[in-house]
Amino acid sequence: MNSIVVHYQELALKGKNRPWFLARLVRNLREAVSDLDVRSVRALMGRIEVVVGPGTSREAVGERIQRTFGVANFSYAGRTALDLEAVSTAILTDLGDRTCESFRVSARRADKRFPMTSPQIEREVGGRIKQARGWRVNLDRPDLTVHVELLTNQAFYFFGKERGPGGLPTGTAGRVVCLLSGGIDSPVAAHRMMKRGCAVTFVHFHSYPILSRASQEKARELVQLLTKWQHRSRLYLVAFGEIQQQVVLSVPGPMRVVIYRRLMMRIAERIARARGAQALVTGDVVGQVASQTLENLSVIGSVVTMPVFRPLIGMDKEEITAEATKIGSYAISIIPDQDCCTLFTPRNPLTRARLADIEAAEQALPIDDLVGRAVQDAVVEYAEFPATSRAGGDVGSEAAAESLEPKT
Ligand code: ATP
Ligand code: MG
Repeated sequence: MNSIVVHYQELALKGKNRPWFLARLVRNLREAVSDLDVRSVRALMGRIEVVVGPGTSREAVGERIQRTFGVANFSYAGRTALDLEAVSTAILTDLGDRTCESFRVSARRADKRFPMTSPQIEREVGGRIKQARGWRVNLDRPDLTVHVELLTNQAFYFFGKERGPGGLPTGTAGRVVCLLSGGIDSPVAAHRMMKRGCAVTFVHFHSYPILSRASQEKARELVQLLTKWQHRSRLYLVAFGEIQQQVVLSVPGPMRVVIYRRLMMRIAERIARARGAQALVTGDVVGQVASQTLENLSVIGSVVTMPVFRPLIGMDKEEITAEATKIGSYAISIIPDQDCCTLFTPRNPLTRARLADIEAAEQALPIDDLVGRAVQDAVVEYAEFPATSRAGGDVGSEAAAESLEPKT
């Protein structure tokens, strides 16, 4: 059984864009397994077949498929000629010494020209298994379901299905820029956008050298983890400490957090426009911390003209934590660091910022200068998965300015 049959989300892939979505899914799957011994990945009449070579375990390939958005489910499968005799023999061989109380055969014909109906195929193959093994047939609640899929020239068979991650193939929904802190929420927000087919570029604000490099290291690790779902990422590291010092000099304590956030938004929007991204993404949750009241969220979001998406907005901390644990980001997020927002942040931040007051306070700041310089001095790092030859297969970095030249 050296094939893996991948099924995608039928509904999402309907319509005239279907070939394009499918081609993207195949390409993403190829990339996901590019460092493994995989002989081929190809679309085949409504499903995708992945052929695993002897140099790789099928579970290792399955793990990659598990992280490919757009996959509804997949199965470790065998392939035979289009012949029920051959299918039944192969099934009996591959069942080995497996035992069960009850079973059923579930058949699908991708090519309706096959001279038997699906129920007839099920009876035929099921009869052979029953005869050889003596298992009872149970159509409603079988212990084991043997799947048979007949194509034009070949047949697949498999036992059971593994759940895929769902969603849409990465790269089919445009690009967004995620403001990635070292916290628990923003990586989960990024992951949710990836699941809907968005390519995500990351921006992290740090206060090095005023604070340690720890937050950058966490952002880097989070990006490496998240890159397992999108294969290539850019992380823009923006020095924010000096900007904060300027804010401290001219803005009253309670307003600072909102003003820091508005500056982050402006900088992220600038990067987003240069990268052809269409929206910003944050991990904000209503009411979680002082900066996340409706008033503050609105004053913060209104500083940019690009849409700001907050995919976690209505979630509880426990729900977000469970999702972070599942993705694997939780363990990284809880590593202690010195977040730039705890720096110079007063104990009594405004919970109901008024736009007019904030705008008045910002008059005292050279906003354009600060934003322009932050973007100019940003550093960009690249992450890839699976690791390839670039920068020794690892992460490279360079001044971001060049990568942020306006696109012509
Ligand atoms: P998180 O767990 O994502 O840090 P949080 O609950 O700590 O969120 P805040 O610290 O108020 O909430 O941050 C709200 C959002 O602002 C974050 O989810 C993130 O998108 C963005 N953000 C905050 N700090 C930074 C930072 N240093 N760099 C990039 N984005 C940031
Ligand atoms: Mg935070």
